[in-house]
Amino acid sequence: MDSTTTPPPLTSTSSTSAEPLVRVRDVHRLFPNVYAVKGINFDIHRGQVVGFIGANGAGKTTTMRMMATLDVPTRGQISIANEDVVQRPAQVRRLVGWMPDNYGTYANMTVFEYLDFFARAYGLKGKDRAQRVQEVMDFADLTPLADRMMNALSKGMGQRLCFGRMLLPDPEFLILDEPAAGLDPKARMEFKNLVRLLSQRGKTLFISSHILSELGEMCDTMLFIDGGKIVYHGDANELRKGSAANGTRMAIDIVVADRPEAISEWASMNPGWTVVETRRDGARLAFEADDPQSIAAALRKMIGDGLSVIDFHREERRLEDAFVDMIKDKSKA
Ligand code: ATP
Repeated sequence: MDSTTTPPPLTSTSSTSAEPLVRVRDVHRLFPNVYAVKGINFDIHRGQVVGFIGANGAGKTTTMRMMATLDVPTRGQISIANEDVVQRPAQVRRLVGWMPDNYGTYANMTVFEYLDFFARAYGLKGKDRAQRVQEVMDFADLTPLADRMMNALSKGMGQRLCFGRMLLPDPEFLILDEPAAGLDPKARMEFKNLVRLLSQRGKTLFISSHILSELGEMCDTMLFIDGGKIVYHGDANELRKGSAANGTRMAIDIVVADRPEAISEWASMNPGWTVVETRRDGARLAFEADDPQSIAAALRKMIGDGLSVIDFHREERRLEDAFVDMIKDKSKA
């Protein structure tokens, strides 16, 4: 085959330019009677693994389909590597891999035949095609399933096949719509592992879910969408720590050597502290603080006031809690 048409192998994507890979500007999408997306703006940089979170109907699939050139914004622009998705869809498609939330199965087709069929559709020929199909099967752990009929695959295996199909042309930017939905814990672990490996290879990933905990561990950046609007875009760890717009609201577990009720008495006399729950050997307290120094000072005071603290632990806020807070704050505004 002509080497100029051969996509590069599944190797790392070298560029780490500071310029965003994806730019989304003032994007709206009006369906008859409903705005699915209402003026969203965000950038995605090369190498990021972005979790795109929102409830059912929030506008995730609509946004992703527009990024993947499968739908067109009613207003606004999306560009990928400076290529406009509406003006230059063919160029954008070379850069983008799209994994839909469900895929059709073909009766009487094996895993190998399916991948080989799509490799042909991507224009791969001869030895190059055989090599690419094998690379993808190895990467997505499909080699042991090469001769398995497609309609005899489990949900997790089918998802890996869909993943493999997306990787055939070695795209730089991967858009995955609800990839972890319906997977059992083992398949979810395997999926997380694939995401990690692709991220290590420099790929940029954009992964949607309506379940935060599915994405919490694998994403470095979180983008929350609610009612067609972006309500948070930022670092996943920062969000967990609670330093987003909500201020710092953390839970601290205190264990004491005697009289656990003394903790509640102490909390009632000290501003900023509230009792979340009492336990046999202590309590969980919530504390409003702007900086770690004030937590340290408060703990020193607690001990100075005579509480027999033998253990304490600061709980990071769960991403779920952060998301719920965010939606609450938004609806109050
Ligand atoms: P889910 O997790 O349920 O897939 P989502 O966040 O992906 O939800 P979208 O599928 O983008 O949400 O839908 C956003 C809104 O747009 C919903 O109100 C939906 O009913 C509406 N919508 C989506 N596609 C169409 C369409 N083709 N025609 C009319 N309305 C649509």
